[in-house]
Amino acid sequence: MHRNGIAENPEKKGEAAATRREGAGAGVVVRFAPSPTGLLHLGNVRAAVLNWLFARRHGGRFVLRFDDTDPGRVREEYVAAIREDLAWLGLDWDEEIRQSARIDRYRRAAERLKEAGRLYPCYETPEELDLKRRVQRMRGRPPVYDRAALGLSEEERSRLEAEGRRPHWRFLLETDAPVEWDDLIRGRQRIDPASLSDPVLVREDGSFLYLLPSVVDDIELGITHVIRGEDHVTNTAEQIQLVTALGGRPPAFAHFPLLLAADGRPLSKRAGDASLRRLREEGVEPLAIVALLATLGTGRAAESVTSLDALVADFDLAAFSKAAVRLDSDQLHRLSRHALHHLPWAAVADRAELAGVGPELWEVVRGNLDSLVDLGHWKRVVAGGIAPVIADADRGFLAEAAELLPEDWSGDVWSRWTAEVRARTGRKGRALFLPLRRAITGRERGPEMSRLLPLIPRALVERRLKGEEA
Ligand code: GLU
Repeated sequence: MHRNGIAENPEKKGEAAATRREGAGAGVVVRFAPSPTGLLHLGNVRAAVLNWLFARRHGGRFVLRFDDTDPGRVREEYVAAIREDLAWLGLDWDEEIRQSARIDRYRRAAERLKEAGRLYPCYETPEELDLKRRVQRMRGRPPVYDRAALGLSEEERSRLEAEGRRPHWRFLLETDAPVEWDDLIRGRQRIDPASLSDPVLVREDGSFLYLLPSVVDDIELGITHVIRGEDHVTNTAEQIQLVTALGGRPPAFAHFPLLLAADGRPLSKRAGDASLRRLREEGVEPLAIVALLATLGTGRAAESVTSLDALVADFDLAAFSKAAVRLDSDQLHRLSRHALHHLPWAAVADRAELAGVGPELWEVVRGNLDSLVDLGHWKRVVAGGIAPVIADADRGFLAEAAELLPEDWSGDVWSRWTAEVRARTGRKGRALFLPLRRAITGRERGPEMSRLLPLIPRALVERRLKGEEA
């Protein structure tokens, strides 16, 4: 469909884009475009979550695009980590592309822009540009590039090149009318292009900055909706002009507000704290992360989310507010516990942590877990491998209780047994139950003993009551 270059058939594509822009019918195509220069964290993965939900809500396609054109900063291990983190969150993608494999396309697009007079060579050094900006500021003017390079004659250019200068290339913005769009989150937007510098698309060494590859790919992949953080709003004005210059029609745009840490700083500045890797090691549930990112700023309680499907079913960009939102990690941990307590067996059965845990044990322990990391302990309680916790004063009592263990280990074994122990020892309440719990589970607290005990082999219980590791 889009195989032969850029916007081969602008008319047809334009029509399609226009209908899609109204809302989102069939044919929705969105992308998540990380630069593999670091790990995903709560700040940047939000774009993945919202794009994925939007695609799934509208039966559309979700493309994973690696913005990996900067060989100095890109690392292959991050490509792998990003794929793995998305899969862990449950976000699947329909197609994957890498910009590093598409450089020819960007070159062709740049040539077309040159031919159309929209891409012009500039020779200023960074120092010269810096000086210009300082002078502009001193004169109280905005630091917008003055387009001096447009005035260079052929001879002047040849002279500069003879001196060894290589040009970088700027996109000539049209400045006669404002760029406007109906942002699906921010509402009507209007940017005066005269307030922007003509953006540099190609560096001196011929490599591409973010803008051109992004636009070429958006056109070629038929991206209908660009959903991303509000730090890209200015890019949008430039992108709308660039798409149009390349014969495409702009997609719809939605810019969601910044995510702030509890201290009010942008979360991206504390990316390490909030990397998905870190959260995963801490045992945070993926559903909690998706639910939180998908509901922050919408007024909907993340606690009400019981599955990804439920989120997909009523996902609506219009529900997002324009105001920045804060996220604190306590909230995430609370939510994670909440999610865990409500996860049915079917939703967790194939998770690695659940190996050796059956549906009965899951139902009994899930309400007591802080994270799946805790599950290891309860597995050992049932399968063997814990040290009983026994106070000296309770040794005799526990030995006696061991003698009274019923042979019939079914159903209500806990109530039958403890009734008998109470009758024989005279202990009741906490003095009766707590030593038993500590010896059998190695913990002060945990699931209801009446449900747990039948799942632990009688022989293990007997040995623990006698103070043995079992
Ligand atoms: N690679 C860009 C970023 O991570 C993509 C922005 C976009 O969605 O267009 O910010």
